[in-house]
Amino acid sequence: MKLQMLPSTIDENGRASARQHLMSVVIDDRVTIDAGSLAFSCTDLQRQQVRDIILTHTHLDHIAGLPLFIDDLFATLTEPIRVHAIQAAIDILERDIFNWYVYPRFSELTNDNGPVLEYRPFESGGSFEAAHLQIQSISVNHKVSASGYIVSDGEATIGITGDTAETDEIWTAFNAAANLKAVLVECAFPNDLAELAGVSNHLTPRTLADELGKLKNTECDVYVINLKPMYRDKVVAQLADVPRVEVLEVGKVYEF
Ligand SMILES: [Zn+2]
Repeated sequence: MKLQMLPSTIDENGRASARQHLMSVVIDDRVTIDAGSLAFSCTDLQRQQVRDIILTHTHLDHIAGLPLFIDDLFATLTEPIRVHAIQAAIDILERDIFNWYVYPRFSELTNDNGPVLEYRPFESGGSFEAAHLQIQSISVNHKVSASGYIVSDGEATIGITGDTAETDEIWTAFNAAANLKAVLVECAFPNDLAELAGVSNHLTPRTLADELGKLKNTECDVYVINLKPMYRDKVVAQLADVPRVEVLEVGKVYEF
């Protein structure tokens, strides 16, 4: 399984920067978890192939690239873009994004080949398929209804928390997953902003360390994602005190 966190911004030389404003993790160039930077920084191959988009939740940094991704492809799609999300998230997208005021309601539009956007709702905690992948959703602890996922291609399995504060359910699910090669876990704020992390339902290096105590699999890699760009350097420095974690490199292709 190939996994790549898409870049979301450029550095002073115009190259992809490590700062992560937006969240999109593309798997095997075919499926993406979240669509924060999808329209802006995906490769041509990914633009041709990604037709399944799985959303963790509806915060802007996770969906910003979704309307434009569909728009870019509107005339050429030969199958709809399938958005996999819990019904509550779909309702928010329809009410607040695809409402004709912010952007067209693509779910009601067709091109010469048929519909361009199809919603695939799933029950929180439910399992479903997206392209060649089997996905298990797990409810996590965030400001809005949000899901983490266990993703398997039949050989390798990876886990991703999405945005979350302290929670038990996803760690129990990770512990039960077969062939778990890696988990991607969020850590948004530095330790001195624990209060802000608390009210916004995010983790700090300290609370992340506590959370990782719940992970019984001692073999899998642990990658940290969702570091708030303004605090990135501080969070990276504080993660040095957290055993076994590595910060996921933006843009790099990982194979599991
Ligand atoms: Zn969020």
